[in-house]
Amino acid sequence: MNKIEHLGIAVQNLEASNLLFEKLLGSAHYKIEEVASEGVRTSFFKTGPNKIELLEATSEDSAIAKFIAKKGEGVHHVAFAVTDIVAEMARLKKEGFTLINEAPKLGADNKLVAFVHPKSANGILIELCQEASSESSI
Ligand code: ZN
Repeated sequence: MNKIEHLGIAVQNLEASNLLFEKLLGSAHYKIEEVASEGVRTSFFKTGPNKIELLEATSEDSAIAKFIAKKGEGVHHVAFAVTDIVAEMARLKKEGFTLINEAPKLGADNKLVAFVHPKSANGILIELCQEASSESSI
């Protein structure tokens, strides 16, 4: 894994949280993107070299809606940038981690993503992400 790519934070109301994080970070979000397949609307902030992703559910069966119902708002996942997501998924599977996705899928921010189940990673949902435009073994 190369670095932490972003932190994902589950929020109840994206507009309200955009204002809150704008005050907190001293800079506005730079994009909003809906990922219909995941039932989420996301916004992205940059702070120095780091990125924060806010996630709001767009449907009741979205993973974000379920997360908030169970745990409330808060840190939802830690995303790591990887160069070769398929190779990294195979490596983690071999190491005994439970992968939520069998294959990478297109996520927000033009990334190929896959998730590691929190039950196999000390309660933290791990996202692997690879730039969708870069060369890969897919
Ligand atoms: Zn994410």
